[in-house]
Amino acid sequence: MADIEQDPGPGVDLDMDQSVPPLNSESSRSGHLPFDDSILPVYPDPSKSCVQQWMDIMSKGTLSYNDFKEHWRIWVPKIYSPEPKVNCLEWTFDEEQAKQVLFDPLERFICDGDPAEVLQRLSQMENPPSVCRRVFKMGEPTYSCRECGMDSTCVLCVDCFKQSAHRHHKYKMGTSGGGGCCDCGDTEAWKTEPFCDMHMPDHEEAQDQKRLPEELLERARVLFAAVLKYAYKLLTLEHTPYPPRDLRVKEYEEDRLGLVDTDTYCTVLFNDETHTFDQVITTLGRVIKCSQKDAIEYVTNIDREGRAVVKCSTFQHCTEMRTEIERFTSRHGNRPLKVLVVHAHVVAHQIYAMKLLEWLQKLLGHAEGFRALFSEVALQATPPDASIVEGILLRDTHLWKSARTHWHRLIISGMLMEYESKKAFARIFTKHYGTVVKDFMRDDHDHSFSIASMSVQVFTVPTLAHYLIAHEEVLFVLLNAFLSECSRKCNKSGKLEFERNVPNGTFKRAQYILYDLRYLLSAKPTAWTDELRRGFLQGLAPLLNLLTMMQGMDMVTRQVGQHMEYEPEWESAFNLHIKLAHVITLALEWCGTDRVVLIKAYRATLKKLYENLGSDLSQVGEVRELADHSAACLPYDVATQPVSIHLPLSRFLAGLHLHLEKYDLTFDSQEFAATGCQKPTPEQIIEPVLRTQVMISQVHAGMWRRNGYSLLNQLYFYHNVKCRSEMLDKDVVLLQIGASLIEGNEFLIHLLNKFNLVNWAHPQFETNSLKSSEEDSMRQTISLVEEFLGVLLMIVGERHMPGVGQVSADDRIKKEIVQQLCIKPLPHSELNKTLSEDVNHETGMERVIDQVAEFKKPAHGLGKGVYELKPTLFDEYNVFFYHYTREELSKSEEAQRKRRKQAGELECCPPPPLPPLTDAFMMAANLLQCDVMLHVLRVVLERAANLRARSFSEAQLHKALHLIGYALHEQERNRAEFVVFTDRADKWGLEKLIEELCSSARVEAHKDLLAWTLAKYRKLAAPRRAPGEGAVPAAPAAEAGGDAPAGDAPGAAPPTSAVDAGREEKEWRAKMAAQKRAKIMAQMTAMQKNFMKENAKLFEATLSGLGDTGRSRAGDAASAGAVEGDELRGSSMDLSEGPDSHAVALGPRQSLRAAQQRAHTCILCQEDQAVTADGPALVLAAFVQQSTVLSRVREPGAANAPPPDALFLPAALGPAPHTGTCGHVMHSRCCQKYLDNVLAKESRRPYRMRQPASFDVEKQEFLCPLCECLSNTLLPLVPPLAALQPSPKPAPELALEPWLQGLRVALKYKRRLGRGRSAEPASPAPAAAAGTAGSAAAGAAAAAASDASLGSPEPPADEAEPQPQFYTCPIDQVLVEMGDLAGDFAALFPSEGSPDGSPASSQLSENLSEMIQLFSLATYTKGLGVHPHMGDSRVTLMAWKSCAYTIHALENLLRDGGRPLLGGLSSRQQDCLEGLVRLVGVLASTWRHPRVLGSHALQLLSLLLETIPDGPCLFEWDSFGILVPLTLSLPSLFSTDAPPPVPTGDAQDLNVLKLIFAANAVKALLTLDTSSLEEAMDVEDDDKDEEALRPLIDLIRSAHAAAGLTPDLGDLPSARQLWAHVQNASLPFLRCCALFYHFLTGVPAPPALTEAHGDTFENLCSYLDLPVGVTDLLGTPLVQELTRGWCEHPKVKWYLTEGSGSLLRLPAPVNQLVQLPTDYSELINTVSMFTCPNSDREDSRNPTLCLVCDEMLCSQSYCCQTELNKSLVGACTYHAHECGAGVGLFLRVRECEVLLLAAPGRGCFLTPPYLDQYGETDQGLRRGNPLTLCPERYRRLHTLWLSHGVHEEIARALETSSNVMSTQWQHL
Ligand SMILES: [Zn+2]
Ligand SMILES: [Zn+2]
Ligand SMILES: [Zn+2]
Ligand SMILES: [Zn+2]
Ligand SMILES: [Zn+2]
Ligand SMILES: [Zn+2]
Ligand SMILES: [Zn+2]
Repeated sequence: MADIEQDPGPGVDLDMDQSVPPLNSESSRSGHLPFDDSILPVYPDPSKSCVQQWMDIMSKGTLSYNDFKEHWRIWVPKIYSPEPKVNCLEWTFDEEQAKQVLFDPLERFICDGDPAEVLQRLSQMENPPSVCRRVFKMGEPTYSCRECGMDSTCVLCVDCFKQSAHRHHKYKMGTSGGGGCCDCGDTEAWKTEPFCDMHMPDHEEAQDQKRLPEELLERARVLFAAVLKYAYKLLTLEHTPYPPRDLRVKEYEEDRLGLVDTDTYCTVLFNDETHTFDQVITTLGRVIKCSQKDAIEYVTNIDREGRAVVKCSTFQHCTEMRTEIERFTSRHGNRPLKVLVVHAHVVAHQIYAMKLLEWLQKLLGHAEGFRALFSEVALQATPPDASIVEGILLRDTHLWKSARTHWHRLIISGMLMEYESKKAFARIFTKHYGTVVKDFMRDDHDHSFSIASMSVQVFTVPTLAHYLIAHEEVLFVLLNAFLSECSRKCNKSGKLEFERNVPNGTFKRAQYILYDLRYLLSAKPTAWTDELRRGFLQGLAPLLNLLTMMQGMDMVTRQVGQHMEYEPEWESAFNLHIKLAHVITLALEWCGTDRVVLIKAYRATLKKLYENLGSDLSQVGEVRELADHSAACLPYDVATQPVSIHLPLSRFLAGLHLHLEKYDLTFDSQEFAATGCQKPTPEQIIEPVLRTQVMISQVHAGMWRRNGYSLLNQLYFYHNVKCRSEMLDKDVVLLQIGASLIEGNEFLIHLLNKFNLVNWAHPQFETNSLKSSEEDSMRQTISLVEEFLGVLLMIVGERHMPGVGQVSADDRIKKEIVQQLCIKPLPHSELNKTLSEDVNHETGMERVIDQVAEFKKPAHGLGKGVYELKPTLFDEYNVFFYHYTREELSKSEEAQRKRRKQAGELECCPPPPLPPLTDAFMMAANLLQCDVMLHVLRVVLERAANLRARSFSEAQLHKALHLIGYALHEQERNRAEFVVFTDRADKWGLEKLIEELCSSARVEAHKDLLAWTLAKYRKLAAPRRAPGEGAVPAAPAAEAGGDAPAGDAPGAAPPTSAVDAGREEKEWRAKMAAQKRAKIMAQMTAMQKNFMKENAKLFEATLSGLGDTGRSRAGDAASAGAVEGDELRGSSMDLSEGPDSHAVALGPRQSLRAAQQRAHTCILCQEDQAVTADGPALVLAAFVQQSTVLSRVREPGAANAPPPDALFLPAALGPAPHTGTCGHVMHSRCCQKYLDNVLAKESRRPYRMRQPASFDVEKQEFLCPLCECLSNTLLPLVPPLAALQPSPKPAPELALEPWLQGLRVALKYKRRLGRGRSAEPASPAPAAAAGTAGSAAAGAAAAAASDASLGSPEPPADEAEPQPQFYTCPIDQVLVEMGDLAGDFAALFPSEGSPDGSPASSQLSENLSEMIQLFSLATYTKGLGVHPHMGDSRVTLMAWKSCAYTIHALENLLRDGGRPLLGGLSSRQQDCLEGLVRLVGVLASTWRHPRVLGSHALQLLSLLLETIPDGPCLFEWDSFGILVPLTLSLPSLFSTDAPPPVPTGDAQDLNVLKLIFAANAVKALLTLDTSSLEEAMDVEDDDKDEEALRPLIDLIRSAHAAAGLTPDLGDLPSARQLWAHVQNASLPFLRCCALFYHFLTGVPAPPALTEAHGDTFENLCSYLDLPVGVTDLLGTPLVQELTRGWCEHPKVKWYLTEGSGSLLRLPAPVNQLVQLPTDYSELINTVSMFTCPNSDREDSRNPTLCLVCDEMLCSQSYCCQTELNKSLVGACTYHAHECGAGVGLFLRVRECEVLLLAAPGRGCFLTPPYLDQYGETDQGLRRGNPLTLCPERYRRLHTLWLSHGVHEEIARALETSSNVMSTQWQHL
């Protein structure tokens, strides 16, 4: 087939009017033959376009699917067939051709004209759509309004939300799981404001205008039907690799059509949920032999689309692939991955079918008429075929993911926009619901990818839900679907039973039905119809069946003798309960709104209960007697027989019972008796619940210890806020029902009997027990009595339940909040968590909180605010509140007793008054005064008073008193007139007993409560008693109960109490003191543990003045309280003369340098040690890291750029090695021992077992032994340089000009050494010696390095490209050429022989020099990313660079914090700088290749004084970054082999400063951005002033001239502005210099520089001995000349013209983290637009923002993994590497958390800088409250970053994290 023609030729022109332009000739896709008119297979008449042909057939009335199909049959394979032999990932289709041939004709056909125009007309004709229905993508933000939404499923998309009224309401943010849609415009979704501004309907237009033209509709009808049929057929194609017969290309057509390769097949891989990403990636890599990157892309596609073609080849080849893949993936007993081999044309048709669906969806958006038509067509069944919608409903699970979502989206946008279509869909959906969910259960795709998830679209619409219930039996259908799944899980007795190790995935999926039920019931009907009643009750029957299946499931029997063998399964039952609970609650609410329904439901429930009584409940009772009363009790021993915690049927009855009173119904009403159906007795009704209560009590009494954790877990959830509203709460109600229906005495006997306490209640119990009882059973009895009394307290006292007490639902929430806040004040989220959520996940807290509590804002804008209870409400505190856990009970009691004591009240918690009972429960109050109750109370009181009674406990007495208190309250509230507790209690002699107990030492803890009770008793009894009959009249003060001051309380108590009070107080105090001590001890331990974590920050914050002797240091504080005051820390600054306000650091006029030695305490051996040159070396733990924090340029790919020139710091300031330290001092020997230990420990630890290590020994990392600060090297302490190298006397003097003259001579003789070995081959003898010395030194240092590097094997010294080496003439030559000034010049280079040049190196101990070298090596390895190599000449350069960079960093930090320059350093920073500067000061003199240093000096001078066209120009180096190496290398300029002197700050150093200051000023002048200047303020410029500043203008002029630019100075600002600019731009440079020279020379800072804002230009110049005036500084001919030299550099011109964009202007601003929006939703909206950069148009699951450079990344995702150091890492790790030299600060936008990364492999999460209105963060966006930026928190993060603390922060987080699951940081 040689003749490949791209042009389809005129014959296939599909449009009469315009010919198809030639195809893209670049397309390499299979070519085709030119079409001959005569062989055009589609239509007999080729002269017509297909549109015309369709029109013609249409007019004949016979147009059908076949006519379109024929067109597609030919063209689809031509356009969309995959290419064989090409990587399947690289397919491209000619979409342009597709549009012209496949899509445009369809539109043109429908429109019969220009589609653009017609469709636009249609859209205009229609009102703007009044519903949104935007389908959410995964992760897209959603908004729900908590005030207006009908339920929590009602959500808005971003656009609608922003345009809606709800943005001013209380709203919640969320992220969509994908699949749902926006409810804007759905009037049933919103109580108010259903429309946003965009979707607001315009009511003026008439309805019938929307009607589309009839002919157009007719054409659309045919086409829609064809499109749907085609798409349905192709996408559901199964069991054959070939296209349907009628879509196949006939063999005879192939050649003519130009379809080559018709024998092509595809291997298609489908996704499933059993195989992991990694498994599939590995499989693909092996089977199709693709790269890992490609494999990842395939897998990503499969995951996203649900399938992917991985191979396109011959049938045989494809089948082999398939077999291989199946073989690989079926290992490990897995089901193999689904793989199909299909014909390429099938794939082509399927691709087109999906595109057609998209096209149709878009078309439907144009007009409502289209949607109505679509709905009609899609629902139309053409027997025998079902309708398309039915087809999709039933075949959904046969489709792959993206095919499904295409259909779902089409249905949403076509059928759910208009109510009638939606209703039609809802009906058909309901009809097939059973099949749909069955398919879903057996499928393994997520719910959101199933058509079953459409339920939320229809069931949540209230009117639709009611319609479906009334007319479509929807409840019945759903429940039956669920029941049929449940019945598989039922045991012989018909109860649900879940077993361990039995897969229950299907059952879990079945529980989605319960959500659907919830949706249906979520809107309570306001008006009932008979149909609705019938429909609802029809659903209630299966619901009761379900509850019956659950009633009594998971029975437990008390284990005696031995422990349970295995823990029984319990989670499934509780999970089911949690999912079902809302349905139950809603069903109960429905029943409560209609009398008829309530009666029928109550009756049905009673009937169910009766039918399920079982044998044990229908037995004849055994008679029990007590206090002259008796009851026939059901015999059942909870301690030996099985009991269940699941009693939903009983509880359902309790729920219904609460509504009875509303409709004047009672248990005994006629309505429940008449039917002839028998009902259980109240005793039978309460029996199951009673058993459960007894079982729980026995567990608490320790009788069920052998039953293991499974039971304890069940009890936990039974009581927990998640479950209790349909468990514990209903049980209490049921017991209360029992108490109101059963005679009080009998009820109590039933209870006592079930608790097995009838014996205990016997008066003779104590004496009887003496004979027989064992200690163990007595203890159990005591506990059981406590539990029994506790149950009574619940029955009597828990009345905050609407229906039981006269309270509202809000009262109930208030009560809960009151009780919680009595434990302690709580933040909003924690308080909210203690409340149970309703069906909309609301707790109702906001409604009531302001009535009960006050919000206290956090103190300093940091931390959470808390709610505090209003003080008046403390009286409502109930210590025995039934939702309290035991811990909460005791905590709250302690808190309340303490509070009352402080307030001077009785120290007890008397019971609160109770709300009145409703009439239905009125009888329950009688319980308090019936004989058995009084008997029980008397027994408890008597035994409390009887010191020999063994069954007594304090808790019993406490509860008994609480019960009496309730009774007294009831009596007091006259409403319950029938409660006459005191009258009856008198008969039982309770008063006397209480009085007696008041003086009992045994119950002293309850003394105040007894007093309160007695007082209250007497007050109430008094009016009823005849005068004189009563006992002591109650003291009026005590009668007031809790309000009485403690001092008055004993008035009611016997006189002894005063003594008691004294004693008690003493004891109390002793106890408190002991507690306090324990607390302090605990705190101490914790503090020691976290010591530095806190202190590190503390010290950062504590500003320490230089001379401040009171500075406290973490290390010293920890080391057994070393005294700070007399320690001579910072002594070098502590000059006795005091600070000199005119101190001069540099030059001949230099002030006195400090030289005192300082002592430190070694943190390891605790010995004091002075810093000396020859003593044992002291070191600081230090951390060197490559940093880009200060970088002024962040370019992608920076990481891969060659390392910058080691010689100087570039103007862009990074990346460069930064040095930091925690400031903890150790002996180097001690430290070595410590490190050896650490290493040994680490190496013993098996690699796999390692926690996510906070430090990496392989990188020489370790933690500071004291503060656990991350470190990787040691910074040795060097004595003050003045002590090593005193300033010469007299100080040499030499002005700048002659000095430069001398240097120029040296430059003149500059020669380059041959490249190659770094040793100096050309030099005479001494050099050779130096060479050997050098290698020896390298060896020693390397050995030391390997020591200090924790023993890691020494890596081979890497052969870095050697730095070029230079040398110059000896100094004598220069002196000769200089003439007169030779002497002064020579004085600047003291040599060994000269008197002042005592070599510093000889003074330093071997150990110290070694440590100095070692540290330098660390800066070299980190800074250049190379292996250690001591012989590399760049080692010194990197140490200097690190010094310059670190000073820059501190200068930035101080500037950013507005802190004083020399008074604002924290002690850590101070230690760091001092150590670092002194170290680099002596580095040259300890270096064993002085010639190398001389070479550096020559290079630097050359850079400054010569023009090297290919070298860096003025704008490319940082001024301070060149000053440091120049200062430190110049002394070595003429050195041969002798160590050079240490810089002292002499005239030479001053000249260096002057030179570079001038260079910096010129830079400032040239980089001035005049547009940024403000208009000259004062016009009356003093001419004289202007004249004085003239040199600046001249300078610019000559600079421009030198650069070859025509000086155009027309728009120059005034000279005054220029001067102000120069001063301002010089400040950062001068500040760095001041820091540097201060530590180098030891000249104390003048006071001005230690104060904030004291660092003015003048003050800095004065300290540095620079002249202040323009003329002196910059006006000399010398500066002019230098400037010309600098500007002659060719690059200068470029920078000033076309390159001005990359010009770095002065002064450099302090880098800031990116600006974040105040409103978090703005951020989340931005990311919803963000798509993964690596897979086109796909959303990113974890969009993550780099806070340093503002780039958005697609994190934690395979698609964006990149290779770094030979392993694949996530986008964040890679970016951190590029952007931050390994350090990254990110904001994970969807998770709302900050991610810190220390790439690769380490990281931590921090709370985000966003807070809700309660001052709380929301990591993971779980609560969804609106969040706003907290500037303070963000500021802290910024400071952390700017101070290079990220590495440390991560190490600390990892060290303290207890999380066993380690995060794979490198994959983020
Ligand atoms: Zn919307
Ligand atoms: Zn809207
Ligand atoms: Zn609202
Ligand atoms: Zn030591
Ligand atoms: Zn430390
Ligand atoms: Zn970045
Ligand atoms: Zn991605």
